[in-house]
Amino acid sequence: MDAASLKSREASPLPGAAAARKPTAPDAELAHRDLLRGAFWRAIPAYADVTEEQFLDHQWQAKHSITKVEKLLAVLRGLVSDAFVEDATEGFHRAPMSVRVSPYLLSLIDWSEPFSDPLRTQFIPLGSRLLPDHPKLGLDSLHEQADAPVPGLTHRYPDKALFLPLNTCPVYCRFCTRSYAVGADTDGVEKVELRVDEERWHRAFAYIASRPELEDIVVSGGDAYNLRPTQLIEIGEALLAMKNIRRIRFATKGPAVMPQKVLSDHAWTDALTRIVDAGRKLHKEVVLHTHFNHPREITGITEAAMNLLFERGITVRNQTVLQRGVNDRVETMRLLVKRLGHVNVHPYYVYVHDLVRGVEDLRTTLGTALEIEKHVRGCTAGFNTPTFVVDAPGGGGKRDAHSFEHYDRETGVSVFTSPSVHGGAYYFYFDPLDCLSPEVQKRWRSPVEQDAMMAKALAAAKARVRG
Ligand SMILES: *Cc1c(COP(=O)(O)O)cnc(C)c1O
Ligand code: SF4
Repeated sequence: MDAASLKSREASPLPGAAAARKPTAPDAELAHRDLLRGAFWRAIPAYADVTEEQFLDHQWQAKHSITKVEKLLAVLRGLVSDAFVEDATEGFHRAPMSVRVSPYLLSLIDWSEPFSDPLRTQFIPLGSRLLPDHPKLGLDSLHEQADAPVPGLTHRYPDKALFLPLNTCPVYCRFCTRSYAVGADTDGVEKVELRVDEERWHRAFAYIASRPELEDIVVSGGDAYNLRPTQLIEIGEALLAMKNIRRIRFATKGPAVMPQKVLSDHAWTDALTRIVDAGRKLHKEVVLHTHFNHPREITGITEAAMNLLFERGITVRNQTVLQRGVNDRVETMRLLVKRLGHVNVHPYYVYVHDLVRGVEDLRTTLGTALEIEKHVRGCTAGFNTPTFVVDAPGGGGKRDAHSFEHYDRETGVSVFTSPSVHGGAYYFYFDPLDCLSPEVQKRWRSPVEQDAMMAKALAAAKARVRG
């Protein structure tokens, strides 16, 4: 008898086999199935009279999205304290990233706990929470521009490239890696121009077609939600027509922040379906990549939207950013992963937070990522279990968080290598300083000590690599 059938016999409820039966799961283990439904937005006084028809209309959502602190405060009047109002006002003025929040998102925030709410934390900056940036942080920390042969086309890996056709999104996330380009200029940052520009697109297409090794294009941004249906088709058809291209992914935050659009913008959803179907006939894969960070971002509306895509045979994968106070607890990440699976979205990656300006309060240590991963793996199907990665600052690409050559938990310095992207190079990642001991934080204030801590970590990494 083979091991598998032996196991299944043991698990069967024969007399005497009771000890082998798993106890019934506690209710908390099924929480991923409980999705928020009903007219939840009516709890916000400003939306008390908004009908279901309006709330489910993506145009209503877009038109009522909030970009100015005055408008936000008008919606929240009576819901939050003066202290919160002052804090958010300061946050809006100091944040390097534009602010844009949909009414849907605002309705999902628990306004009785606005300082700690995980959705508020991602989209609405508070002056009191901002920490100084890490001394080793640069604006385009991933060197996307340095690796760009055409503006908005990053070719870092051998067989895949990242195409940024536009620089706007349906909402703006505080933690955005592309704050160097995405959104409007803010008080602190003048952005690189990556507007919709046919001429720039054609240069990108020409480059992609000229590189036979390129097989896989990530169309990101900005956000594919903000492409017009005709633009989606133009990009999709141009790429599918290239013999070398085998895989296309359209990246959008949309399902997490405005799932209504999938259901009510028929022209957009039909355009996506048309490209996916065209790809399928050519035996090329076209999929959607999205970006849920917290289980509460998945509601009954999300489920309806994902069901529609599933019925149309469109694969959806998810990339999460690990953020302090948002999803850095085991229970939260497990619930997110299980809930994504429940609505047929495959958890693909969890990113250890990039070194981005103005969001030190959101970063976690690498150690936190490793600990959460240990508890998530095994809680559901392996193919629904995300890989935890560090996108190595300086252009090393994504690395399995566990694959560091050296990690000094005391100084927070980790060192990675990336043989298939750049053999022989070493890449550093840094834990946020406020998570380190007071003595080590003091060392980080001295440039000489910074160099010493990095040199020590690098020497240890090199010793290990050379064996
Ligand atoms: C993330 C990324 C890709 C895609 O990488 P995968 O690991 O295949 O998801 C491609 N190019 C760039 C520059 C990227 O940052
Ligand atoms: S949707 Fe994506 S690209 Fe746009 S602000 Fe958020 S993280 Fe950045």
